[in-house]
Amino acid sequence: GAATVPLLRVQGLAKHFGAFRALDGVSFDVMPGEVLGLVGPNGSGKTTCINVITGLYRPDGGSILYQGRPVGGMAAHRLVHQGINRSFQIPKPFKSLTVRQNVEVARTYGQHAARAGEAEGGVAGDIGELLRFLGLEQHADRMAGELTSAQQKMLDLARALATRPKLLCVDELGAGLNPAELDLVAGRLRELARSGIALLVVEHLMDFVDEVTDRLIVLSAGKNLFAGTLAQAVQDPRVVEVFLGA
Ligand code: ADP
Repeated sequence: GAATVPLLRVQGLAKHFGAFRALDGVSFDVMPGEVLGLVGPNGSGKTTCINVITGLYRPDGGSILYQGRPVGGMAAHRLVHQGINRSFQIPKPFKSLTVRQNVEVARTYGQHAARAGEAEGGVAGDIGELLRFLGLEQHADRMAGELTSAQQKMLDLARALATRPKLLCVDELGAGLNPAELDLVAGRLRELARSGIALLVVEHLMDFVDEVTDRLIVLSAGKNLFAGTLAQAVQDPRVVEVFLGA
């Protein structure tokens, strides 16, 4: 039925840097409202995959279907308008704008994402609510450059959410967060998924992956190695080998 149509279908995705095949035929589906983990050793192609899906890089092969339509090679801003956005491993906020202004700029960038026929509301409907949701309300009027790196990560997430994504890719959100911040952010990601946003989560921290994701794709050297649950992954000798060998 309609509920089983993937929001995103990646098939045979390839990305080359010179002669190097960073992605060498990666395939997976993300279902609506699903939290899919994308894991694998350093250099296996996780960030490249997000970079291609979100339009930072053009694919060299394969296809990306979003809501059944090809979007491979589409410019990042057009993808944002269609509902695909991401947060960055290393956030780069406008440092001399306030936290609130940073989110306002992002909301303006994603304005066309107030798509015809879609209700306002949800956490992204109101910037104050969005900042509260991510624990940034008391920092709203501070310059973004004054935030800690953990707070800058939350701001980056707020900026992405302000564009009202249907598919949100998050890259190493957990790195550098303390246990309390990790807990908060894991809960928030689950909440976003419950609200219907699909998440593609690149992450090294396996506890975080365990808490947040429904299912995993493991990459190795730009190829699919495994698809399934984390419980299944840790039983798979190929998965164990690439992680121990890394
Ligand atoms: P991961 O996120 O799994 O650690 P990446 O996707 O960042 O891996 O990188 C995969 C491989 O592609 C690495 O060997 C990396 O050095 C290479 N790579 C990534 N981006 C570029 C680029 N812009 N130019 C050249 N090589 C790149």
